[in-house]
Amino acid sequence: GAAHVVVVGAGYGGATAAKYTRLFSEGKVRVTLIEPNPKFISCPISNLVIGSLKNMDFLTHSYDRLQQNHGVRLVRDSVTSIDAARRTVRLAGGSEIGYDRLIVSPGIDFMWEGLPGMASAEAKARMLHAWKAGEQTLALRRQLEAMPDGGVYAINIPAVPYRCPPGPYERACLVANYFRKAKPRSKVIIFDANAEIQSKRGLFTRVFEQQYKDIIEYRPGHLLTDVHAASNAMRFEVQDEFRPAVANVLPSMRAGDLALRAGLANINNRWCEVNFQTFESTVAPHIHVLGDAIQGSPGMPKSAHMANQHGKVSAMAVVSLLQGQPVPQLPIIANTCYSFVNDTDAMHVSSVHRWDAERRTLLTVPGSGGVSVAPTALEGHYALGWARNIWADTLG
Ligand code: FAD
Repeated sequence: GAAHVVVVGAGYGGATAAKYTRLFSEGKVRVTLIEPNPKFISCPISNLVIGSLKNMDFLTHSYDRLQQNHGVRLVRDSVTSIDAARRTVRLAGGSEIGYDRLIVSPGIDFMWEGLPGMASAEAKARMLHAWKAGEQTLALRRQLEAMPDGGVYAINIPAVPYRCPPGPYERACLVANYFRKAKPRSKVIIFDANAEIQSKRGLFTRVFEQQYKDIIEYRPGHLLTDVHAASNAMRFEVQDEFRPAVANVLPSMRAGDLALRAGLANINNRWCEVNFQTFESTVAPHIHVLGDAIQGSPGMPKSAHMANQHGKVSAMAVVSLLQGQPVPQLPIIANTCYSFVNDTDAMHVSSVHRWDAERRTLLTVPGSGGVSVAPTALEGHYALGWARNIWADTLG
C-alpha cells in the first residue's frame, strides 16, 4: 500500500511537516498527525494576550483544514512510546500505529528538577510559566489583573538555550505597557540568568530606557536557584530572596518528554541531534525530529518560524526517501522574530542560514539578516501579518 508517515505533535513543526508531506507527495503518501490538544493555540502573539491587547480567540485555531484541504488524518491522542525497531508508536489510548517514517516535533518541556520548590501541583498553579500557550496564558493575565496597583511582577529568564530568545523581554515590555495604563504605580523586574539581553540587545535596552524607565528594571546574571511558592518567593545565588506580587517562573528547558523517553535527546539528555539535510535523528534511523526539540545549528533560534522551515525541509526529505529519489539540496532557510513593545509598535530580528557542505551544518550567511532601526507601528502591522501568514501556512 501507500507509504505512511506518522507525525507526532501538531505544533508549528509537526503541523507544517504533515501538510507539506501531503503536498510534496501529491497526496501519494498517507499522513497521520497525532496531537492531544483539540485546537492549535499559538505561543507567538500570546504575550499580547498577557498584556491585555488581544484575546485567546485570536491565538486559537482549528486543525480541520489539515484534514479537509490536505487529507491529513488527525488522531487526538498522545504518543507514549516509540518502538524504532518495529516502526510503531504506542498511544495513551492503548492502540499502536505503524510507520515508514516518523516525524517528531514535541516542542519543549521544563527541567523542574532544577527548582525543587516547584515540584507540587500547588506550586505550579501559583508560579506560572505561561511558556506554552493555553490555560496558563490566561491565568497569568488574570494574576496581573487581580494584582493591586503598586505591586511588582517579576520574570526570570533561564540560561540559553531556551524557547524564543526575545520572548521574555517582549513580555516584560507588554506587562509594563499594561501597568502604565491600568496600574501606574506597579513595576516589572527581569531576573536574567544570562550576562546580557539575548536578542535585539540594543533595541530592548533602548526601549527599557526610553519607554519604561521607571517601570522596568533589568538585572542580568541572576540565576533562579529555587522558589518557595507559598510565599511567592524567588531565590537567587547573588541576592536575597525576592517576593513579587506576581512571579512568572521560567524553568530551564529541554526537548519535550517524548524525545527523552524515546532516547532521541542524545545531546546531554536535553536536545536531539539531527542531520540538517533531512532532520533525521543521528541516533534513530527513520525518525526525524524538528522544532524546539533539536540542537540547532549556530545562531539558529528556537522559534515558530524556524520550526515551520524545519517542517518543509523534513517533508521534502521524507517524501524523497520514501519514493527512492535523491534528497534535494538543502534550501536556504530563514528566520524572522518580531517583538511588540507597546500597543502598536514592534521590531524584528532576522537571519538567513545556508548549508555548509564542508562543515556539514547550517551557517548564518555573512551580511544577511539584521535588526530593526527602532520599533515602529509599521512593523507592528508586519508582525500581525507574519502571524496570520504562518497560521495559514502551518494549518492549511
Ligand atoms: P510546539 O509548537 O510547542 O508544538 C509541539 C506540539 O507537540 C504540541 O502541540 C504538543 O501538544 C505536542 N506534543 C508533545 N508531546 C506529544 C506527544 N507525546 N504526543 C503527541 N503530541 C505531543 N516564535 C516565533 O517564530 N515568533 C514569535 O513571535 C514567537 N513568540 C513567542 C512568544 C512566546 C511567549 C513563546 C513562549 C514562544 C514564542 N515563539 C515564537 C516560539 C515558538 O512558539 C516555538 O519555537 C514553536 O512553538 C516551536 O514549534 P514546535 O513544533 O517545536 O513546538
